[in-house]
Amino acid sequence: MPEYKAPVRDMRFVLHELLNLDDHYAQLGLEEVNGELIDAFLEEGAKFAANELAPLNRSGDEEGCHFENGVVTTPKGFKEAYAKYVEGGWPAMGGDVNYGGQGLPSSAGIAISEMIGSANWSWSMYPGLGHGAVATIEEHGTPEQKDTYLPKLISGEWTGTMCLTEPHCGSDLGILKSRAEPQADGSYAITGTKIFISAGEHDMADNIVHIVLARLPDAPAGTRGISLFIVPKVLVNEDGSLGERNGVACGSIEHKMGIKASATCVMNFDGAKGWLIGEPNRGLHAMFTFMNFARLGTAVQGVAHAEIGFQGGLEYARDRLAMRALSGPKNPDGPADPIIVHPDVRRMLLTAKAFAEGGRALVYYTSKLGDVVQKSKDEQARKEADDLMALLTPIAKAFLTEAGLEAANHGVQIYGGHGFIREWGMEQNVRDARISTLYEGTTGIQALDLLGRKVLQTQGAALRNWTKVIHKFCEGNADNQGMQEFVEPLTRLNKEWGDMTMAIGAQAMQNIENVGAASVDYLMYSGYVTLGYFWAAMADVAQRKLAEGAGDEDFYKAKIATARFYFKRILPRTAGHKGAIEGGLDCLMDLDEAHFAF
Ligand SMILES: Cc1cc2nc3c(=O)[nH]c(=O)nc-3n(C[C@H](O)[C@H](O)[C@H](O)COP(=O)(O)OP(=O)(O)OC[C@H]3O[C@@H](n4cnc5c(N)ncnc54)[C@H](O)[C@@H]3O)c2cc1C
Repeated sequence: MPEYKAPVRDMRFVLHELLNLDDHYAQLGLEEVNGELIDAFLEEGAKFAANELAPLNRSGDEEGCHFENGVVTTPKGFKEAYAKYVEGGWPAMGGDVNYGGQGLPSSAGIAISEMIGSANWSWSMYPGLGHGAVATIEEHGTPEQKDTYLPKLISGEWTGTMCLTEPHCGSDLGILKSRAEPQADGSYAITGTKIFISAGEHDMADNIVHIVLARLPDAPAGTRGISLFIVPKVLVNEDGSLGERNGVACGSIEHKMGIKASATCVMNFDGAKGWLIGEPNRGLHAMFTFMNFARLGTAVQGVAHAEIGFQGGLEYARDRLAMRALSGPKNPDGPADPIIVHPDVRRMLLTAKAFAEGGRALVYYTSKLGDVVQKSKDEQARKEADDLMALLTPIAKAFLTEAGLEAANHGVQIYGGHGFIREWGMEQNVRDARISTLYEGTTGIQALDLLGRKVLQTQGAALRNWTKVIHKFCEGNADNQGMQEFVEPLTRLNKEWGDMTMAIGAQAMQNIENVGAASVDYLMYSGYVTLGYFWAAMADVAQRKLAEGAGDEDFYKAKIATARFYFKRILPRTAGHKGAIEGGLDCLMDLDEAHFAF
């Protein structure tokens, strides 16, 4: 099985050379963080990921989680690795300083999340959900709730969950049934069944803080009648110590295709004591803090699986001998050439590399926007960053997870038949990647969010915010001869994106179903153009570094070569998606449902 090695050089390239985090932190007036600190995190994070987590990835997959009498035991070594993670202070990086956190901006920890997730996605979900609970309580909790839950969640002593899904509903939360009855003491009795709850029960922490959607009595039907509650597994005494077990228990765990070491739990709430967080009936609004956090986290998962597909594929492609290059032997002393000589193997490797590195740029950029939203004192800058983030989040989540899955599949294909065999780890990468296009809103749901809510409902304003950034970049490089191979196609596609959006908008006025018909192709188109921008921007940085004689020539040349591959071999996929959108609605709807099968 290939060993995961954090791509620290590439992470540094994105963080420092592409995104200029030092300047960004100075602009935000953040004195507590700078490039040097980030580099120290990268070094330590890389060690933690490689030494503590990667070795548990395959064993965790093989062993899975255990369930007995409501108790979930994680695979061997998981609990100990979590204790080291807490001891190392990692969970506290982003937390509020008033509650024991380090108050660092989200971009300071994004590479660490990628390293941890790449090394062992299942393991990363336990702390990951805790961070989401922290973000939600920090934003919507009362001072008392913050005092009660934040210190232990931020330190990692407790973990969190997000409890949305019920047996009859996932995407359509408007029909959820869990109930919350007000109690005389100001708390609520929560009753209902939640399914598929990641980290709902486990043995890593003393307490689990569930963030739960439920309905108040007489709440309006639909999404406007949902409220949000904090429901701890163990009730917390006034002095902060742990008290009685609350009325919430794990009924069973799921047996899954992948991420087998992540406990996916059925959670039964039986009059459990909960406390309202945020306003009554505005729970979905408050939950969006968690969901947006988790969506960006899932975008990281796409990058992680692309990186693993790439690293594993590269190692094998250099070693494995099969046939000769069409143009003659490249390894004349051996019985055959290494498969990396074959153009088709290179196509797969470069696709995985282009998705991993391009996706990294998109995700880190989005988290830089998150810093502005969280930390800027300039209200206008905060609003602009927030709007841009709202547009980029569904693209990052859905496009990068689809890309990650494709790259994971290339990883298997590069290994030939061996890719199908467990010991190489490539099949696990595909199985683990498969969930990423499903949870946190399926690709279909993200696509509706992008095209319907973010683009059309804002009359294209949200899209224009982003196409303007791309346009400015292209304009700035209009006279840069070396960049024309990137700037010309990007300029054309950026305009085409706007024109196509207008055409879809016009069709939607005729028949709203056109939005659903176009949505996933539109999302994929948007993803390819967005990644095109990042690849062009990375090529620009690399060209400048080469011109300056900054050293590290091979790295920068590889960046430019990969950008060229992306533009010549991946970006043309936009034409297919545009063609499919133009194929329209009728061919999807004409077939009577009764005649789908005979
Ligand atoms: C391993 C795992 C972990 C999970 N972790 C959590 C968790 O921690 N917390 C939590 O609350 N949930 C969790 N989930 C649940 C997950 O978020 C849902 O499964 C997901 O949102 C999809 O909901 P669903 O399964 O009900 O599918 P459905 O909503 O029934 O959708 C079925 C299909 O119909 C499509 N569809 C539905 N509506 C539309 C529409 N209007 N237009 C077009 N297509 C549509 C969907 O895209 C999908 O392809 C997890 C699930 C799994 C498998």
